[in-house]
Amino acid sequence: MSDTAEIECQRCGKCCLADMLDYAAEEEQDRWKREGREDILRIIEQHHGVWMGDHIVSADNGHMFRGCPFLEWENGLTRCAIYETRPRVCREFRPGSSEICPQFKPDKQEE
Ligand code: SF4
Repeated sequence: MSDTAEIECQRCGKCCLADMLDYAAEEEQDRWKREGREDILRIIEQHHGVWMGDHIVSADNGHMFRGCPFLEWENGLTRCAIYETRPRVCREFRPGSSEICPQFKPDKQEE
């Protein structure tokens, strides 16, 4: 197990400001179809976000999004509304593994 795997998530939600959904592979969409999660598929279709390097915009109308449409707030902390069936790109993200995370420690990455 790496050091970053042991870092606890602070539920700040910063990693959810990147448009992880655009990285949701076709296999995830097939899985959601099998699971009958039309609610997720409908939101993704409506979302139609495109990552512009530092923000997400709608490919349909240029509207800027604030982050993942499934990011919710709960008592000052964030939570994923589809946590139990979230895409692999989100399941595999480890707290502290990227500079976007406040738990990131550059010296730990070089060990
Ligand atoms: S950026 Fe890091 S601490 Fe914040 S929610 Fe994501 S994994 Fe957790």
